[in-house]
Amino acid sequence: MFVDLLDELKFSFKGEVSNESWIKDYYSVDSSNHRILPELVCFPKDEDDIKISLDSAIKNGLSISCRGAGTSLLGQSLSNGIVLDFTKYMNKILDLDLQSNCVDVQPGIVKGLLDKELRKHNKFLPPNPASSNYCTIGGMVSNNSSGPYGLGYGSILGYLQYIDFIYSDGKKGFAQNGLCDDRLNKFLQPLFSIHDEISSMYPDVSKNSCGYRLDSIFTPTFNPQNLFAASEGTLAIITSLKLKIIDLPIFRSLYMVYFSSVQKACMYTSKILSTRPAALELLDSPVMDSSIKSITASNNGCLLFIEYFYQHQGEINSISKLLKSAVYSEGKVVEQAHDLDSINNLWGSRRNALNMAIKYTVGNRKPFTIFEDTAVSIDHIYEYVTDVLALYNKYNLSYVIYGHLGNGNLHTRPLITDSSSSDDLLNLTQTKMLHDITNSIFKKVKEYRGTITAEHGDGISRTPYIKNVYNSFILSYFKYIKKSFDPSNILNPGKIVL
Ligand SMILES: Cc1cc2nc3c(=O)[nH]c(=O)nc-3n(C[C@H](O)[C@H](O)[C@H](O)COP(=O)(O)OP(=O)(O)OC[C@H]3O[C@@H](n4cnc5c(N)ncnc54)[C@H](O)[C@@H]3O)c2cc1C
Repeated sequence: MFVDLLDELKFSFKGEVSNESWIKDYYSVDSSNHRILPELVCFPKDEDDIKISLDSAIKNGLSISCRGAGTSLLGQSLSNGIVLDFTKYMNKILDLDLQSNCVDVQPGIVKGLLDKELRKHNKFLPPNPASSNYCTIGGMVSNNSSGPYGLGYGSILGYLQYIDFIYSDGKKGFAQNGLCDDRLNKFLQPLFSIHDEISSMYPDVSKNSCGYRLDSIFTPTFNPQNLFAASEGTLAIITSLKLKIIDLPIFRSLYMVYFSSVQKACMYTSKILSTRPAALELLDSPVMDSSIKSITASNNGCLLFIEYFYQHQGEINSISKLLKSAVYSEGKVVEQAHDLDSINNLWGSRRNALNMAIKYTVGNRKPFTIFEDTAVSIDHIYEYVTDVLALYNKYNLSYVIYGHLGNGNLHTRPLITDSSSSDDLLNLTQTKMLHDITNSIFKKVKEYRGTITAEHGDGISRTPYIKNVYNSFILSYFKYIKKSFDPSNILNPGKIVL
């Protein structure tokens, strides 16, 4: 049957279709620990190609999953059906309107390439994951990605102006500020009268990629396009997007501040935030590369990366004074940069944190990913970090910790030795330990009204835990939304709604 499917698709497809085994192998993995072999991989050229793929998926009982660069950490883009890769053809800037500060793009454009083009016009799109040299706008929107400037500028959800998409039955839809197609409007009707109630049940955090962001559709006005942020390709296939862009900051200053421990740094977070930085990032010593380890002159402790954007050069002295006073007496400014090259140089070490974490994979030992992206409000960050470190201590685990401290969003992973297959009893004990730690951490997150994922999303790994964040009322609306969009459950099944 699938040979016929390949022929059938090849006949009408303008882009490319492949079932070659090396291609399927390549697309069977992303940046997670999962592996799922797809049946076919398609590289669509336009909306017609997408419709053709959807038709074939329905006719042949296959699922269909979109893929950008495959840098998701929880298996979001993996599928045993058809994978649609947008990076090969649907990767263009369609329009750049400097008057209204908007850019129109196709979903497969790489964020770093878009940045390069915007920089020529002194503009930027602030959400900037450490993976931005590879990741795509379609992937960023579908995970609601952010990165360091999430503190000053929020996640990509705040930049969505217009989305063109294709429903699971091949029909076209759109959503923009204040308006959407009739079908989507009908889906959203039951939410109109209860949106305040819904929003009150969402986590109390500055960014959130868990479940569907129903809380963002009516704030402050009707923004139906926001439904697609964090929806992980489970509702529709995005074909183009209009995004808000802003002027590049005129002046920037980056400070690196040393604290003797992560907990100490957390104690000072509120004070540092009162100085209004655009970014406040944490890097603990185990994930520092050699270039900055020498700056700290210590094997322990952590660094905060604190960046300010400002309009007048004269502000630099007052910023510097304010920061020094905010971190007094435990924090020490060990490095600072005020020109773009030096700033980018220093940021390189922070961007490298996940790679440094992955370097701890030796033999069967690896950093364990499931609670690596929690967030709590800054009021609770010190208590929360203390809870997490106490758990690592209880189970005698080494760990890495870094991330977006200013958003209360820390990326932490214990280093676990995978004992599979050698000793069943050991396996059981270890599985139980991981289960206990995960449940304890997610329980704490709930206690502090946090989220289990601030920017990485749910994917295959975290979907079973969404119920830790939302009550049955909200979960019933997730089911309702998924069923309305995708009654046959063909769009990226196994993610967000099981
Ligand atoms: C080294 C490293 C560092 C990272 N740092 C950060 C960070 O700082 N901040 C952060 O937020 N994340 C970070 N991430 C996570 C990840 O890079 C981001 O989530 C990224 O935005 C995903 O983009 P992608 O193009 O790789 O998407 P993919 O992984 O390919 O896909 C992501 C989701 O988007 C869906 N999708 C893609 N295109 C479409 C479309 N056209 N229509 C509908 N759905 C679509 C897919 O089905 C999938 O569900 C990091 C990952 C790595 C490996």
